[in-house]
Amino acid sequence: MSELRELYQTTILDHNKKPRNFRVPEAANREADGYNPLCGDKVRVLVQVDDAGLVEDIGFQGSGCAISTASASMMTEAVKGKPVSDALALFESFHDLVTGPPLEEPLLEGVGKLAVFSGVREFPMRVKCATLAWHTLKSALDQRSETAKTE
Ligand code: ZN
Repeated sequence: MSELRELYQTTILDHNKKPRNFRVPEAANREADGYNPLCGDKVRVLVQVDDAGLVEDIGFQGSGCAISTASASMMTEAVKGKPVSDALALFESFHDLVTGPPLEEPLLEGVGKLAVFSGVREFPMRVKCATLAWHTLKSALDQRSETAKTE
C-alpha cells in the first residue's frame, strides 16, 4: 500500500504540473461544466464523439486543486479513443475505486493507472475533487446542459 501511496504522490504532482489534454479540442461536440463547491474546483470537459460512438478527442479547462487537475488530466488519457460506453463504465469503476471498499486485484487492473487514486478513499473531502472531472464527463456524454455538481 505504501508503494501505491508513493506512486499516488508522484503521479498527482506530475499531472498537476503538466496536465495532459489541457486544451479545447477544435471539433468538440459535447461539453459540460463541473463545480465542486467544497474545494472551489472548476472544470470544463470538452469531448469530440465521432459517428461510431468513439471518444475521438477530449480536453479540459478550468482551475482547481492538484487532485482535481490531476484527475481530469488522467481521465482524458484514460477515455481518449474509447467507445462512449467504455468511458461510462470506467466512470463507474473509478467511482467505486474512490468511494467503495478496497477493490480486488482483478478489478484494480481494469482501471489501470487510475488505481493510484484508490488512496483518496482515506480522505473523504478529497473524493469530490477526484470525481469532479468524471461527473462532468458523464454530463457531457449524456449531453445534459446544466453544471455538474459533486453534491
Ligand atoms: Zn479540490
